[in-house]
Amino acid sequence: EKYVYSFHEGSKEMKSLLGGKGANLAEMTNIGLNVPPGFTISTKACIRFNDEKGKLWEELINEINIHLKEVEVKLGKTFSDKQNPLLFSVRSGSVFSMPGMMDTVLNLGLNDDSVIGLANSTGNERFAYDSYRRFIQMFSDVAMGIPKVRFESILEEMKEKKGVTEDTQLDASDLKTLVEEYKKVYLEEKREEFPQNPITQLNLAIKAVFESWENPRAVIYRKIHSIPHDLGTAVNVQSMVFGNMGETSGTGVAFTRSPSDGENKLFGEFLLNAQGEDVVAGIRTPREISELKGIMPDVYKEFEDAVDKLEKHYKDMQDIEFTIENGKLYFLQTRTGKRTAKAAINIAVDLVEEGLIKKEEAILRIEPEQLDHLLHPTFKAEALKNSEVIAKGLPASPGAASGKVYFHAADVVKAKARGEACILVRQETSPEDIEGMVAAEGILTARGGMTSHAAVVARGMGKCCVAGCSEIRVDEENKVIKAKGMVIVEGDFISLDGSAGNVYLGKIEKVNPEMSGNFENFMAWTDSIRTLKVRTNADTPKDAAQAVAFGAEGIGLCRTEHMFFDEHRIPAVRRMIVSNTLEERKKALDELLPIQRQDFYEIYKAMGDRPVTVRLLDPPLHEFLPSKDEDIKSLASSMDIDFEDLKDRIEDLAEFNPMLGHRGCRLAVTYPEIYRMQTRAIIEAAIDIKNEGFEGMYPEIMIPLIGDIKELKYVKNEIEEEIKMVFEERGQDIRYMIGTMIEVPRACVTSDKIAEEAEFFSFGTNDLTQMGFGFSRDDSGRFLAEYEDKGIFEKSPFEVIDRDGIGKLMEISVDLGRKARKDLKLGICGEHGGEPSSIEFCHHLGLDYVSCSPYRVPIARLSAAQAAL
Ligand code: ADP
Ligand code: MG
Ligand code: MG
Repeated sequence: EKYVYSFHEGSKEMKSLLGGKGANLAEMTNIGLNVPPGFTISTKACIRFNDEKGKLWEELINEINIHLKEVEVKLGKTFSDKQNPLLFSVRSGSVFSMPGMMDTVLNLGLNDDSVIGLANSTGNERFAYDSYRRFIQMFSDVAMGIPKVRFESILEEMKEKKGVTEDTQLDASDLKTLVEEYKKVYLEEKREEFPQNPITQLNLAIKAVFESWENPRAVIYRKIHSIPHDLGTAVNVQSMVFGNMGETSGTGVAFTRSPSDGENKLFGEFLLNAQGEDVVAGIRTPREISELKGIMPDVYKEFEDAVDKLEKHYKDMQDIEFTIENGKLYFLQTRTGKRTAKAAINIAVDLVEEGLIKKEEAILRIEPEQLDHLLHPTFKAEALKNSEVIAKGLPASPGAASGKVYFHAADVVKAKARGEACILVRQETSPEDIEGMVAAEGILTARGGMTSHAAVVARGMGKCCVAGCSEIRVDEENKVIKAKGMVIVEGDFISLDGSAGNVYLGKIEKVNPEMSGNFENFMAWTDSIRTLKVRTNADTPKDAAQAVAFGAEGIGLCRTEHMFFDEHRIPAVRRMIVSNTLEERKKALDELLPIQRQDFYEIYKAMGDRPVTVRLLDPPLHEFLPSKDEDIKSLASSMDIDFEDLKDRIEDLAEFNPMLGHRGCRLAVTYPEIYRMQTRAIIEAAIDIKNEGFEGMYPEIMIPLIGDIKELKYVKNEIEEEIKMVFEERGQDIRYMIGTMIEVPRACVTSDKIAEEAEFFSFGTNDLTQMGFGFSRDDSGRFLAEYEDKGIFEKSPFEVIDRDGIGKLMEISVDLGRKARKDLKLGICGEHGGEPSSIEFCHHLGLDYVSCSPYRVPIARLSAAQAAL
């Protein structure tokens, strides 16, 4: 069996065998880019290595040897040569990159003899010892587990002693000294000499890569992200090229387009006389890629052409790592570049316009949840004018954030749990800070460039980030920021503008974003492809208008109870509830009628020509009543009744299990006049709106919690009588519909009956999930987390529709319902209506629309289009 592949033997399709890095190194080699030759040991070898109890077996060693020879012949150098040694990098590369996997070791093959050979053959002693000290550190840290700080502190001491700030200012003899001290550290830690034999070095490094697959951090990561454990990682062994040979050498990273906004322009950073990850490590401040043009125009031109070729070949924005050795350009890595949501949309639309991809492909490339990042606020212009910029850093990830300053990830997590908005402030971030970055509103770092850890991770999360803000001094230990002579301490408010790179003192008011240009184009494409309509859940004209701006095609759920909670209305609502006689109740309802009518009128108006589904009152009545004695007292006195009487009445209304109690249509069975009042308000407002010329608007009256056809018949009859009265009084009639929510399991299995009376169904999947599983929506969160931890549920059924059970109930309902009424309109208005996987399910179920909160409307439009492709 074959385990080792030369770069020219692979291709980008072989990711599972060669890992992402190896497959792309192969692809770049084959399309003629200048890639230092090397080979990839496959993921299968990693699996077998673990089966073989952590030993490299003989055939594998032979195969590696053959490929090593091949590289030697190609380059005319020998691995163990003392005069002119061939050196390698050892790079891990699994299909998915994950924390805990082994980092890269560079300059492998150097030892006490060959470092002299390297110095002589290149005539550059400084370079040779710089490479050797780097190798000893990387090998010790990465392959042998010796803490990196042991070496870093020696380097820092050396720089301090020499009075310099940058590694490049150390000379050959300084570096020689470092090498000796590094080897001592190795001896101390491992109780043996630093390995001098290149083959031994190589085998140890390969083993370390394989072993890192089973590293606890990697194992946990795979578990969390459901990555199979039997994928294995590949090992790339690649001949070295040197960016640290002097001022005509360098190394860098680049994106073929801007990862922040997608602009079609090279975007990246480089450092001269540097190696490996110097650029991203934030040790020196890197230079912008465009500056390379002035320094090495030919190399820059070549780079531009190659990068163009790469992008056309991969048909997507690429993230590229390169090195220049004495004016010669080499490519070391390419992959699909991470990007912000804004960049993702702009790039997808541009690529379609450039003819590289089709619209359908563009639609599939955008993660629906990503759109969320585009819909979020920026700072209000007027508020900004009064705010002082205290520092400027790099605009690393767009967005606006205000919050309290914290200096440690764990403190952010704690503060967030207390309900605080936080900004994580660090010298620079590292993978250990992830949790804090997730919990923070925004991230501020003092060091690192546009490709630093903080910048890359924040962009991936769509989180606002200002990086490399060298104008501030961050003292993590004492938890203070010093900026412009000011001192900001833990808990102080600051604000970040990740699009401009500005840091402000204090909190700043925000405004909602505007959709335009490419976003509109892109969303229009999704609309042309999807068959599901997208409505919104909105209870106020403001929400309705926002949803229309986001593309909502109607309201799928207007909850009327929220209108009742308003502080000016609640007295009338309460009087209505505690009334002892029909007369009294009607009086209170008469007061509420004009208010409700006005509510509906304004919502209809915000929706223009779009349909509006209004759900009649749903929650149990006592939810509206006061519970504290003092509140009851004031209600009693305002109603001129006895305190004790009122208290008794409230106690009478209380239920042990209100969610299964006197709510929804059950209220209307007892008090039909409540639904009659609401119906009258709905219809009267609709007539008014129609008379103003909104012809397309028609109300859909939705009755909640129906479980039996006879309930529906009773309530519907009351409603229709009221509608008839309104039509007669007004001498005018309008189009309307009466339908029901499907949220009680019994309604699903008797949907044929229910459809005889209901013109539409709207699945209330929150209650349907609650009643289908018997999980209380309000209490099950606590134990459902356990279900997720123990793998019983992958996702809470309240988040993602449980297709097998709750979905099955929906399917039965759809089938029965449509059998009884061919043109039965079907929708969903539960929380699931805005969740991509549930939307896909609704598409396949053949629903007519989904309804979700305004901010999820664009997400639903895209999800619906993806479901249709
Ligand atoms: P990561 O997966 O963290 O990106 P890489 O394997 O890409 O790690 O290695 C990190 C860096 O090391 C590269 O960006 C490149 O600068 C340097 N590097 C890797 N292989 C070589 C090589 N053969 N010659 C020169 N530099 C290399
Ligand atoms: Mg790395
Ligand atoms: Mg890399």
